[in-house]
Amino acid sequence: MGLIRFNEKVLITTPIYYINDVPHIGHAYTTVAADILSRWHRLKGDDVLFLTGLDENSIKTVQAAKKVGIKDIKKYSDMIAEKWKKIWKILNISNDDLIRTTEDRHKKNVKNFFMLIHSKGDIYKGKYEGLYCEGCEAFITKSDLVNGKCPLHEKAPKIISEENYFFKLSKYQDKLLEYIEENPGFIQPESRKSEVISFIKSGLKDISISRPNLEWGIRLPIDENHYFWVWFDALINYLIDEKYWPANLHLIAKDILRFHAVIWPGMLFSAGYKLPKRIFAHGFLTVNGKKMSKSLGNVIDPVILSENYPVDAIRYFLIRDTPFGQDGDFSEKSLRTRLNNELAANIGNFIHRTLTFIWNRFEGTVPEPEKYNEQDKKFEEKIKSISTEVTKELENMRLDKGLEKILEFSSVCNRYFQQKEPWAENKNAETCLFLCANAIRNLAILIEPYLPFSAEKLWKQLNFKSSVHKQDWNSASIIAIKVGHKINKPKILFRQVKDE
Ligand SMILES: [Zn+2]
Repeated sequence: MGLIRFNEKVLITTPIYYINDVPHIGHAYTTVAADILSRWHRLKGDDVLFLTGLDENSIKTVQAAKKVGIKDIKKYSDMIAEKWKKIWKILNISNDDLIRTTEDRHKKNVKNFFMLIHSKGDIYKGKYEGLYCEGCEAFITKSDLVNGKCPLHEKAPKIISEENYFFKLSKYQDKLLEYIEENPGFIQPESRKSEVISFIKSGLKDISISRPNLEWGIRLPIDENHYFWVWFDALINYLIDEKYWPANLHLIAKDILRFHAVIWPGMLFSAGYKLPKRIFAHGFLTVNGKKMSKSLGNVIDPVILSENYPVDAIRYFLIRDTPFGQDGDFSEKSLRTRLNNELAANIGNFIHRTLTFIWNRFEGTVPEPEKYNEQDKKFEEKIKSISTEVTKELENMRLDKGLEKILEFSSVCNRYFQQKEPWAENKNAETCLFLCANAIRNLAILIEPYLPFSAEKLWKQLNFKSSVHKQDWNSASIIAIKVGHKINKPKILFRQVKDE
């Protein structure tokens, strides 16, 4: 067991999302993953700031408001922001803050940050001519295009020629390359890191960070006619609480990697801040093998999904089904299969049969074990060591593997219960139930980051009054339930859902 340092400050962020629409399953994927890591850090005793937010200064906001016939853009933003907040609540997201880039605290931060890099001589005015993709809200190069179109948005870019303010990103090219080399964990996974390195090596250009005459967004403090380019303002959201800087993790999807791993570090170098410790880009989710898009009509709304499946089953599926970092696929059929075979038939089954047995045969009291035989000793070892295994996976961003270990552990528990035959006349039910009850307690802690609703229910069934958040992650490696402990009446945690 490693040395546990308490009250370490930990900042975990999601991207700030555009508010031209409500969240789909892709946003939920990123946010659930960040939630799992934040909850895990809290369980370890760290002082966590889990930050998510909304990118409201985009031209997309203006267009979206117009589309639904709302003239007052701020009013539209307020309305959509409420929806996002509600949805994160439904998915049991434990964010400590949700920053909106229309807030004064953010605008103030952006202006201060800009003045810092301006004072370093890294801002200049120049003429920009180039291709602009409205979907990306970024200038793109010819080499990014596929058949003349942005491959992400399948739209031809606009040709723009205007006077802009520029940030001297090129100045930081060598420093950034050096930094990436010296900090191997900075950009993950490996494949993404190589992508960034070759992009930087191809030569960084200075970037335009302002747009003239937008009428929506944050004005440049040095020129009233210019507004900040939305990405420049958005990235600065991560600095909202400098006590927690540098961030431990920026969790993003792979399409916005360059903004985070190239532009943002350049900005931070210039302003004199440390760089985030880790930028992790996960893959995309398709739906039934197809790209999710409005035109295909296959966008998955997590709220509608949560009306048909337990939220924990959705969270479970999202993380369990795809090696974290790679592309994955969403299908309701696979979700049901995992819910039925893994949550209900494996984890739920073990918990329910054990607790029911204790409830019915021992009046809800954890019995006293007899002397352990080899099989019991081996099982006790597993109960104590499983948390170290899960910890290793979480430390290395293998969120899916962490769940896999938990599931394997549950299989071991089921097998042990089955082989011990506590129902048989001549078998030692007491030892079996004592150890299984302890296995369940440790499971309750291990599943908490992933399945917080279920962990809470389980905690009640085990009759522990204090919230699971106060349980030290470390205590998932001990035999903590004492002989004579009274449990509450067991209830089924996960119900199977029939195929349609
Ligand atoms: Zn694009």
